Amino acid sequence: MQEIPFLPAGDNSIRYPLKRFLPYFHVGVISSWLRQHAEAGGNVLDPLGSNPLYALEAADDGFRIFQAQKNPVLQLMTEVLAQCFSESEYQKAVNLLLEQEWHGQKLGRYIHDLYLTDCRNCGRSVAADGFVWKKDASDPTSVIYLCPHCGESGTFPTVEADLHRLEQIGNAAIYHSRAMQRCMIEGVDNRKNIEYALACYTPRALHVVVILFNTLDQLMVSQQERSIISAVLLEVFDQASSLWYWPSREFRPQQLSVPSVYFEKNISLSIQQALRTWMDYRKSCEVVTYPVIPDQPRSICIFERKITSTLFAKQTDPNGFPTFCIFPRPNQAFWVLSAMWSAWLLGKKAAKGMLSALARQRYGWYWFAQAISTTFGAIRNKIAKKDTIFGICSDFTPSYLLAVMLGANDAGFQLTGCAFQSNRNILQMTWRNSLQAEGPQPEPPIQPARDYLTQYLCERAEPATFQELFTVCCTAPAIHHEFLPSLEGESSEYFTKVLNDLQNELANTNVYRSFAGPNISSSRWMLVRTAKDIQPLDDRIEQAIVSTVQQNPSINFQMLYNELCQAFPGFQTPDRDFCRNCLESYATRAKTGQAIFMRDADEDARKRESELDEIKELICQIGRKIGVAVHTNDGIHWMDAADKTLYTFYLSPTAIFSKYTQKENDGAHGTPVIVFPASRSRLIQLKIERNPYLKETLSHGYHLVKYRHIRKISEQEQLTLQAWQDVLDVDPPLWDPPTQLKFL
Ligand SMILES: [Zn+2]
Repeated sequence: MQEIPFLPAGDNSIRYPLKRFLPYFHVGVISSWLRQHAEAGGNVLDPLGSNPLYALEAADDGFRIFQAQKNPVLQLMTEVLAQCFSESEYQKAVNLLLEQEWHGQKLGRYIHDLYLTDCRNCGRSVAADGFVWKKDASDPTSVIYLCPHCGESGTFPTVEADLHRLEQIGNAAIYHSRAMQRCMIEGVDNRKNIEYALACYTPRALHVVVILFNTLDQLMVSQQERSIISAVLLEVFDQASSLWYWPSREFRPQQLSVPSVYFEKNISLSIQQALRTWMDYRKSCEVVTYPVIPDQPRSICIFERKITSTLFAKQTDPNGFPTFCIFPRPNQAFWVLSAMWSAWLLGKKAAKGMLSALARQRYGWYWFAQAISTTFGAIRNKIAKKDTIFGICSDFTPSYLLAVMLGANDAGFQLTGCAFQSNRNILQMTWRNSLQAEGPQPEPPIQPARDYLTQYLCERAEPATFQELFTVCCTAPAIHHEFLPSLEGESSEYFTKVLNDLQNELANTNVYRSFAGPNISSSRWMLVRTAKDIQPLDDRIEQAIVSTVQQNPSINFQMLYNELCQAFPGFQTPDRDFCRNCLESYATRAKTGQAIFMRDADEDARKRESELDEIKELICQIGRKIGVAVHTNDGIHWMDAADKTLYTFYLSPTAIFSKYTQKENDGAHGTPVIVFPASRSRLIQLKIERNPYLKETLSHGYHLVKYRHIRKISEQEQLTLQAWQDVLDVDPPLWDPPTQLKFL
C-alpha cells in the first residue's frame, strides 16, 4: 500500500438541501482527483450516489457521470440542482402552491396564521420564529419572536392564546393517518419505521406537511414546476421536523430520536428559507435517467443500482471507468425520513423500493460491510485493472471504517493507497481490482498489523492518537483480509476483537510508551525507542512552512497546504489547523477571510540573523557580568571556576526544539536554556499541548526564555548567578499580555 497525498478541500462552505444528513461535501476534491486519474471528458462511475454535489462538481468539470441511485429524494436533488433555476423560477412555482385555496383562504396565508402569537409588549399579532417544546410534552413551553411593531424580542412562555391557536388544526389523528397511509405498501411491514418518523413531527407540523403534499397532488402544473415545488418541500419537510435542538446547535441526526428540548420552526418562514438553500450551489449539467444515456460529457446518467450489469453491457468504455465512492455512514434517521418524504412528495410508486427496504434495513457494521461488498461486487467485472477506485470516509466511527475495508476487500479489491487527515477525521483511499491484475500474482506474505503500527510511529516520531493507530491498523491486510461471510455468526465480535487486540498491543510497554489522558481519545502512544535522526512530524511541518515563508513574502495558505499534503503524504497528512497556526506565527493574514498571508517584517532572514548575533553577544555579556567563563566554540556555554558547564544556550528563531532535545540531556552540558523570539510563544505552547512527549522532555530542566527577556536582563548593572537564576523564568512562553498578539 502506498502513502498517497491527501487532496485538501477548498475553503468554501456551501449551503445545500439535506446537508446535515449527507456525507460532508469536500469542495474540489473529486475534481482534482479526476483531473489526475481520468481522461478529460471521459466516463466516471459514482456507485454510491450518496451526496449529489460530488457528481455535479465532476460533471461541471466536463465528465460524464454514471450515478447509481436508489433514493428518490437524492435523484430529485441531482436533477433540480443541475438545472440552476433562478430565484424567480423558484418563487413563481412556490407561489402556485401557496396561492391555492384552503378552507376559504390562500394556503400561504393559512400556514402563516398558524404560527401567530401576541406580542407580550404591544399586544399586536406577530409571526413567531417558532415554539420550544420539551420532549413528550403535549404543548410547547415557550415561543420565540421579534415584534416588527415595537421591537420586543426573545423567548416568552406560551400563553392561553398560543395553545388555543394550536387547537385550530382540528383532529390531528386524521393527518397522522393520512401521512402514514401514504407510506403503506401491501405485503410490506414498515409501519413501525414510519411511526418512529412521524413521532418526529409535532401535530401542527404534520398538519401543515400533509396539507402541503395533498395540495401538490392536486395542482395542475408543468413537470418542471412540480420538480421545483417538490424540491422546496423536501427541504421544508426537514425543517418542519422536531429534530432541531433548542438552544440551537450543530446537529447531524443519525437516529429518529427527538432532542429533550427541541424547536418547532415556523414552516411559513422555512418555505422562504428553503428557496435560498436550493440556490447556493450552482453547477449546471444535463441529467438523464437510464435507459437514456447522455451523448455528451458534462452530464449525469442516473441508474438504479440493481441494473448495474445491464448498464455496463450496453455502456462499455475501452477507457474504463474511474470510480469515486463517497461512503455514507449508515443513518437510520435519513433512510427512514427520505423513504417517507419520497412517498409524500413523489408518491408510493417512486418510493416503493425505499419503503420496502426499511423493514430489512440493518445499521450494524457487519451489515454495512456486506452492503459495501455487494456494491463493489456489482462493478467488479467492469473496473479495468488500470482503473482506480477513489473513496472518502468523513467522520467515521472505527467500526464503520473497518467495515469499508472489509467490504471492499471481500469484493475483490485491493487497498492500494491511503491518506488520513486525522484532526478532521477524513480518510481518502484508493483500491485496484485485484482479480483483474495481470497474470497470477504471488501472494505477498501478510505482515502482522504490529509492523504497520511501529513503522508508522517510527516515521511520525511523536505520539499518536488511538484513532490514528486504529486507522493504520485497519489498513493492514492482516486485519482487513478476513473472509466476510465467515464473520457473520460473530458479527459484532470481530470488531471488538480488532479493538481489543490493538489495545493489548499498545499495552506492551517494551514497545510502546503511553501518555494517558482522561479518556482514550485524549491518550497518546509512541515508541519506546525513537530514532534519533528522525524529527517529530510537527517540527518537519514547521520547517517546511519556515522555508516557504523565507522564500516568499506573500503566501497563499490554500496552496501552501496543498504542497504540504504532497510533501507529507498518507498517515503523515498535516493537521490543517496546526499548519495555519504555524504560518500565523511567521506571517499575518493580508485581509480577514482571505487565504493570502504576508510575511512579518521581523521574519526577514537577514533581520533574524543579525538579531541572533545580538542575542548571542548579550548572553556573553551577561555571563561576563556574572563572572562565569563564557565559551563560544560550538554553542554558548557558561562554565564555573572548576570548568564545569553551568548553562548551555540554544538560540532558536523557530519553535523547532527537537534538534536540542534529542541530544542527551545527561547534565554534562549543564542547564539547557532555549532562547527564542517572543512571537514564537503561541506556536511553542501549541506544540507542547499537541505533543505530551515534548512537554515531558522540556519539563526535565529546560528553560524557555524569550529574546526580549535576555535584553531586559542584560540591562541590569549588577548581576549575580543567584539573581540570574531568580529571573530566568519570569517571562515564560505562556505569559502573554492578553491584548497583545505578537511581540518583537
Ligand atoms: Zn410588539
